[in-house]
Amino acid sequence: MAGLRLPLAHLMTITGEALKKVFIRTYGCQMNVYDSERMADTLAAAGYAPTDAPEAADLVVLNTCHIREKAAEKVYSELGRIDELKVAAAAEGRQMLVAVAGCVAQAEGEEILRRAPSVDIVVGPQSYHRLPALIARAEQGAGVIDTEFPVEDKFGFLQAPRREAIRARGVSAFVTVQEGCDKFCTFCVVPYTRGAEFSRPVVQIVAEVERLADAGVREVTLIGQNVNAYHGEGPDGRPSTLGHLLHRLAEIDGLARLRYTTSHPGDMDDSLIAAHRDLPALMPCLHLPVQSGSDRILAAMNRRHTRADYLRLVKRLRAARADLALSSDFIVGFPGETEEDFRATLDLVEEAGFAASYFFKYSPRPGTPAADMDQLAEPVKTERLHRLQDAVENHQAQFNAACEGKVLDVLFEKPGKRAGQLVGRSPYLQPVHVMAEPALIGEVLPVLITEVGGNSLFGTLRAGADRAPTPALASMEA
Ligand code: SF4
Repeated sequence: MAGLRLPLAHLMTITGEALKKVFIRTYGCQMNVYDSERMADTLAAAGYAPTDAPEAADLVVLNTCHIREKAAEKVYSELGRIDELKVAAAAEGRQMLVAVAGCVAQAEGEEILRRAPSVDIVVGPQSYHRLPALIARAEQGAGVIDTEFPVEDKFGFLQAPRREAIRARGVSAFVTVQEGCDKFCTFCVVPYTRGAEFSRPVVQIVAEVERLADAGVREVTLIGQNVNAYHGEGPDGRPSTLGHLLHRLAEIDGLARLRYTTSHPGDMDDSLIAAHRDLPALMPCLHLPVQSGSDRILAAMNRRHTRADYLRLVKRLRAARADLALSSDFIVGFPGETEEDFRATLDLVEEAGFAASYFFKYSPRPGTPAADMDQLAEPVKTERLHRLQDAVENHQAQFNAACEGKVLDVLFEKPGKRAGQLVGRSPYLQPVHVMAEPALIGEVLPVLITEVGGNSLFGTLRAGADRAPTPALASMEA
């Protein structure tokens, strides 16, 4: 792995003292990516510069995810490799601290210190703001563990990112507005690892997004495990909604695009549907997981909505915003799923016409109710997964094909792989490749889509004057 090539001067504090180095490896979802960035910001204020060379680090942080099967075992095997680096550092007379953060840290707790003696710090997702204090304790030699759900709001204690750090992260940013979940779907570990729903106050989020926009960020995606359950304190002291928060953020100068993820169908309220209707900055692209098309399986999953509820909601959303593209998550082979249940899922895919979807073969998560239910045979799950994959990919290909010949607004994000090429995102999150000047990074410009690839689009810049409005794509009509 290449080292971070910073000039030596950048590795010194203003007092001339050499900075320590931190290597952070992030697993899992965007919420973990955001957490890692905020940990890096907090550690920067404590004198740690980032490095991408773990062997050179004074502190190695593994920010873990518990959503995949055998997540904990994978972390233990990674810790075996880190242990070798720690031994090598000690041989050079350097102390290397190792911290395990994230959902595996929360779920495994003390077991990590027992099974992996090279670990110095185990820190749960709600305690990152305490990292500098935990490091100070770990430097004294004892294993430190903090997996509490503290009463204080960690966001109020985490350091704000520096302007250079924001710029280095690009023109699109993620901002956590909500954490935890009270839904207790029977397959999911989130309510156990991230705890009860918590929403940040509106003023705190507005200040963070203003700082991002001021440093050049053009697109912000609000994230939360159940983001549309957002109910943070508004400026009037009363609980706000995600719809109202989006309205407030849309007023911020310089911000061109807003998105949010991941949502629960049961929390799509009137204010959020109105935001889709009224806010041009809110992109017409919504990830709304349904998980199954069978009411029997939805009930066994404790999803708290039926297939008909979901389809009614899709209709209301498309009435509010005709060009809305929907994506979903599906779990295949949930305990008790019959062929008939599975066919109901395939039917739903046809009826809803998703632009993209993610599908997973059910695998039990220890400690969740579904893990104790009768499990389906693996070959049955695999066969259904392939059938669902065909159906979903067919819709995705149709959706992408319908973009050819259309003019889409593209936010240019970074240089492409080919010389002279930029890559940006369409309103529907498709990567779009265009030959264009690097100075256009950060601009939202109309692009004529001339070619559709497997997972991305290709196009040419269009002058703003001859731009047609972004079309409602025919394949997305309800
Ligand atoms: S709503 Fe989402 S985060 Fe909450 S329990 Fe269900 S799947 Fe997990």
